[in-house]
Amino acid sequence: MNDKFDVIFIGAGPAGYVGAIRAAQLGLKTACIDAFAGKDGKQALGGTCLNVGCIPSKALLDSSRQFHNLTSHFDVHGISADNPRIDVPTFVGRKDKIVKQFTGGVATLFKANKITPYFGTGKLLKGNQVEITGNDGSKQTISATNVVLASGSVPIELPFAKFDGKAIVDNAGALDFTEVPKRLGVIGAGVIGLELGSVWKRLGSDVTILEALPDFLGVADPDIAKVAQREFKKQGLDIKLGAKLGKAEVKKDGVHLTYSDKDGEQKLVVDKLLVAVGRRAYTAGLLADDTGVKLDERGRIVVDEHCHTGVDGVWAIGDAVRGPMLAHKGSEEGVAVAEWIAGKAGHVNFDTIPWVIYTEPEIAWAGKTEKELKDAAIPYRVGSFPFAAIGRAVAMNEAVGQVKMLAHAETDRILGVHMVGPGVSELIAECVVAMEFKGSSEDLARIVHAHPTLSEAVHEAALSVDKRAIHKGN
Ligand code: FAD
Ligand code: NAD
Repeated sequence: MNDKFDVIFIGAGPAGYVGAIRAAQLGLKTACIDAFAGKDGKQALGGTCLNVGCIPSKALLDSSRQFHNLTSHFDVHGISADNPRIDVPTFVGRKDKIVKQFTGGVATLFKANKITPYFGTGKLLKGNQVEITGNDGSKQTISATNVVLASGSVPIELPFAKFDGKAIVDNAGALDFTEVPKRLGVIGAGVIGLELGSVWKRLGSDVTILEALPDFLGVADPDIAKVAQREFKKQGLDIKLGAKLGKAEVKKDGVHLTYSDKDGEQKLVVDKLLVAVGRRAYTAGLLADDTGVKLDERGRIVVDEHCHTGVDGVWAIGDAVRGPMLAHKGSEEGVAVAEWIAGKAGHVNFDTIPWVIYTEPEIAWAGKTEKELKDAAIPYRVGSFPFAAIGRAVAMNEAVGQVKMLAHAETDRILGVHMVGPGVSELIAECVVAMEFKGSSEDLARIVHAHPTLSEAVHEAALSVDKRAIHKGN
């Protein structure tokens, strides 16, 4: 049977499943194909994000944070516990339950929205036909007026440190250790390395992170990265910059690493090695040779600003295309494409996509960095405010970090906000709203912020742009 749809999404990650729901809401007959199988072998909708990415990593970050607070931070509050221990199967099991709850939730949402799910690998054929190969090898072909490619991304593998799923692992492996590795090596001090490195460090691993670049967290504002680096060092994360891995050999007593840094060749032995050196668009088996869909030099599906591939009725979204590899970016593209297909005005503003790194302290930013403004010769003013002067942060015993705001020197329009500190994953939302509304630092400065809250740091940073912060010298 050749089922015919208005739109087929290939991939049910946050880009594909959210787009599918929006398409169904708009009255389009919608199908969504996904190949991901959960630990029980059944279809697990939600892609990388729900299965082995955002949600499970945040579950482990939260559990490990509770444990770390108990072992290291509660004493200042006068709270103590004898012999606190972590039970790793329960710790990982809680994460698995959360994953199941959310992947099952997507299946329920599909049912409620009358979206037809297919379990298997979808391949786009010429003429908007899609061949689905089931996990049992069975084949069927369905077709649609529109096909949206949302096949996501996979971890980059280093040829000299190949994943074996046991000693050398990717993000999925590092979410599923059965015991706390005594010595954990991490290649790449990027988002995954810092988040998952923090998880296992908090449970007692000796964590060494090897980062090839000489600067720490080059994607973030340098002032913010500096604070984060100092705090991670205090926590005992051993981050070695300018460290280039040459070899990783799995031996009986661990993974033997050879790397070079400014002092020459170095050796390190670890029990587990997490390789987190970035992700690449995943398009294996996705496209028949004659579809006309193009890939760029990095293997990403080429699209225009409307996520259109240039082939009639074929669109692509999420990690498989240009732009940051973030769940919310993919979801918004999914919604926008559904709306464009339905003849409505879809919209994604790339200038205000927030980034959050869920370490402790958290790191968050949106908009331009100071360097980007300098390079573009855009005149700006800077305001900043430390959490050390925020009553709520001090009361929480988490008075670390700052909010830094960049506003246009002439128009005062907010161009970027960069934060490191407690709760900044939530505080950034206020700044994104202000930026979306083309707000100025003066707008935020004039808004009443509840006292005592962490959001007062945003208020004071906005006041500080005009050198009138109240609780610090200007
Ligand atoms: P994916 O989520 O990768 O989903 C693609 C889906 O398509 C997969 O299920 C795949 O199996 C399926 N598929 C691929 N090809 C085919 C095919 N031919 N046929 C059928 N199915 C196919 N982002 C954030 O914003 N916040 C975070 O906190 C965050 N944390 C992360 C933590 C980790 C450890 C990792 C690895 C990533 C994290 N990310 C986070 C990134 C986020 O997971 C991705 O940006 C997001 O999942 C991309 O969504 P997507 O729908 O484009 O692709
Ligand atoms: P990343 O790009 O964040 O970091 C990779 C790091 O590895 C970089 O610092 C890079 O310089 C370094 N590196 C590259 N090759 C190396 C080598 N040979 N030796 C040593 N270091 C090397 O990539 P990631 O941490 O793998 O995460 C992938 C993507 O997933 C992120 O960029 C992000 O888009 C997404 N993600 C987002 C979140 C979040 O939003 N909180 C969390 C996890 C992942």
